[in-house]
Formats: sequence, structure tokens, C-alpha cells
Amino acid sequence: MNKAYVALGSNIAPRHFHLTQAIDYMKRSEHVLINNYSSIYQTVPIGYQDQGEFLNMVVEVSTTLSSTELLDLCQTIEADLGRKREIKWGPRTIDLDILLYNQDNMVTEQLILPHPRMHKRAFVLVPLAELNPELRIPGTNESVKEHLAQISNEEKRGVVKWTKQDGEEE
Ligand code: ADP
Ligand code: MG
Repeated sequence: MNKAYVALGSNIAPRHFHLTQAIDYMKRSEHVLINNYSSIYQTVPIGYQDQGEFLNMVVEVSTTLSSTELLDLCQTIEADLGRKREIKWGPRTIDLDILLYNQDNMVTEQLILPHPRMHKRAFVLVPLAELNPELRIPGTNESVKEHLAQISNEEKRGVVKWTKQDGEEE
């Protein structure tokens, strides 16, 4: 069994529904078992600013899929949930990124592991630290917790725990 961490993000309503749909989709795969879920966080977009706030979370999975096959599954889910890629880092129905796959450290045209920007992003490190703060990020020799400590408070303030209110985003 392989262990991977997958980050989910959506900033097109209904955002929570999109996260749920993506998780249900993963659960339907007989090759993936979701071991653990982080809380959901609402986060201020970085990069392209003129877009709505994201909901982000991370799940820990056990899988018999190779990393490439897991990426294929993520991209199938993105396509099925109708993601449109018009603006780089722009609005998206659902974004699924493989953060880590075992302790793999590799670069191919399709897949970079660990995810190249993960150790700089509060919206990834905060939910990941909930699941596994001591996890070492390959290629950096530092743990999730140690990377998180290097992120500015200003950026961390942009990542706020979110809970669904009745009637919201229906
Ligand atoms: P981002 O997630 O960085 O905002 P995209 O979701 O548009 O951007 O991803 C662009 C490409 O990144 C995908 O086509 C995929 O092949 C590639 N990619 C490289 N490494 C990874 C990874 N670890 N997880 C997901 N996609 C990755
Ligand atoms: Mg992505």
C-alpha cells in the first residue's frame, strides 16, 4: 500500500458541494481508501487575486495506484466536475493536487513530487499539519510543522477554519 496526501480546493459555488463530490468520487474507486480528512479552510486566493475565496482541505489516502495513476484519477475527477482552465491559477470548480506520494521525490513532465509549491503555501500546510505535522517533505529535510513555522502570520491569517452553515451555498 502507498500513502499519499491530496489537496482539494474550490472557489466556484457551491464550493463545499464540489469538495464533497470529489471525495465521493475517490471513495468510489476500489483502489483508493481515504484514511483521514483535515478540516475545511476558507482561504484568500494567492497569485491571481480577482477571484472568490477558496475552500481548501487535505485528505490522506492509502492506494494501490501508482503516483501517475493517482494523478490520472485526480484529473478525471477535475474534468468530470467540469473544471474550466481559462486563467492560470484562476477560478476553478475543483483542483486536486498530489502533495506527497510516499517519500517520492521526482520530476516528470506530468507530475512533480512533492508538489513544488506546497511547502510555501499556508492553505496546504495548515490542513496537512492537522493530519501529520511531523511528516518530512522530501528534498527539504524539514517537517510540515517546520515549514509552517516559516510562513508569515499575515499569510496564515488568510487561512481560516470553515464550517458549513445551514442553508449556505445550496
Ligand atoms: P495548480 O494546481 O498548480 O494551481 P493546475 O491544477 O492547473 O495548477 O496543474 C497544472 C499541471 O500540474 C497539471 O496538468 C499536472 O500535470 C501538473 N502537476 C505536476 N505535479 C503535480 C502534482 N503533484 N499534483 C497535481 N498536478 C501536478
Ligand atoms: Mg492542480
